[in-house]
Amino acid sequence: MNSAAPAGDSGGSGSRRPQTVVVAAGRTSAIPGEPLNVPLVLASSFRAEQEGPAESRVTGYSREDGTETWTALESAVGELEGGTAVAFSSGLGAIAAVLDLFAAGCRIVAASDAYAGSRALLAEGVSQGRWQVRLVDVTDTDTTLAAARSADLLWLESPTNPLLDVADLPALCAGGRDAGALVVVDNTFATPLLQRPLAVGAHIVVHSATKFIGGHSDLLLGIAVAADADTGARLRRRRMLGGATPGALEAYLALRGLRTMAVRLERGQASAGELARRLRAHPAVSRVRYPGLPEDPGHKRAAALMDGFGAMLSFELRGGAPAADALCRRLRLINSATSLGGVESNIEHRVRKRGQEHLPEGLLRLSVGCEHVEDLWDDLDAVLGSLG
Ligand SMILES: *Cc1c(COP(=O)(O)O)cnc(C)c1O
Repeated sequence: MNSAAPAGDSGGSGSRRPQTVVVAAGRTSAIPGEPLNVPLVLASSFRAEQEGPAESRVTGYSREDGTETWTALESAVGELEGGTAVAFSSGLGAIAAVLDLFAAGCRIVAASDAYAGSRALLAEGVSQGRWQVRLVDVTDTDTTLAAARSADLLWLESPTNPLLDVADLPALCAGGRDAGALVVVDNTFATPLLQRPLAVGAHIVVHSATKFIGGHSDLLLGIAVAADADTGARLRRRRMLGGATPGALEAYLALRGLRTMAVRLERGQASAGELARRLRAHPAVSRVRYPGLPEDPGHKRAAALMDGFGAMLSFELRGGAPAADALCRRLRLINSATSLGGVESNIEHRVRKRGQEHLPEGLLRLSVGCEHVEDLWDDLDAVLGSLG
């Protein structure tokens, strides 16, 4: 996304740049008369194959074999990340399927700032005696890699949520793999436009396609992408047995959303950078976290490792929790709503969320959408000025 960065060199998409892959991948073949887009297939059952040996015939049941609509989305995201993609009913559905690959008793090292749902799932596994979990600060490369040496699974997320800390993913993915751990990266925040973890050694990438891939806050969908086809097949089997299959309409809409992901993210990212600079200069704001700000603790790494700084930022208000609540209440354009990655800008007072009580009182997370940046600023500035 960074115009100064070399484009398309590691997109896992041959010579095409990721910005082109989002538009061109997962289409029907070049047969005259075919629609350009793979249609929305509403089917559980397909007519049975009559020819060939019985054991090699596909069942023709969508939970087992998928549908054209799922496959179109999976091939596009697989091409972007450089692996074999499997779509699930939600991001957490994909995450649960990945965790189900592990036998009882496995040792997991996970990002302490990982998505709250992932941490809750991990904690539940601990209380059920399924596995052991150690949480680490993944921005600390040495500590994370030392912990990974005695782990079966290294669960990474960067930039982190909601503080936007940046981990050294190439060092962690390669180091974790060398240490013998299976390395998984939740790439929801960055998207494959900004970083491609499989290219630097991760075994599996997971996405909440509910967020930037879908992009319109109108669907739930998850995707896991495996570096090798074998692991991809195991994930497909988890989907078949676990049953967390994507809805047909959701898969169709997620691919439709993916088509514009590059332009949406470009706009959101440009506006996030501008808003971060203006918020930092505002007297009501005590701190801004955005990896694009030169003084941000994550800036050096993000500039070196990512193709852009993303469309997420967080900031703290001097007035603490009451000021943060008041801001959320009084904004007129920016929605006070959870979730992220949509065309609309959403703000959330994170400490009010379950599992987020450890965060600074006045911390707000902003997902910057596609509105005009001056309208977003007018909205923020008007309320910040009234907080006193
Ligand atoms: C939202 C989110 C998830 C969970 O995805 P769902 O689609 O809500 O199930 C996982 N990881 C991250 C980073 C997320 O933001």
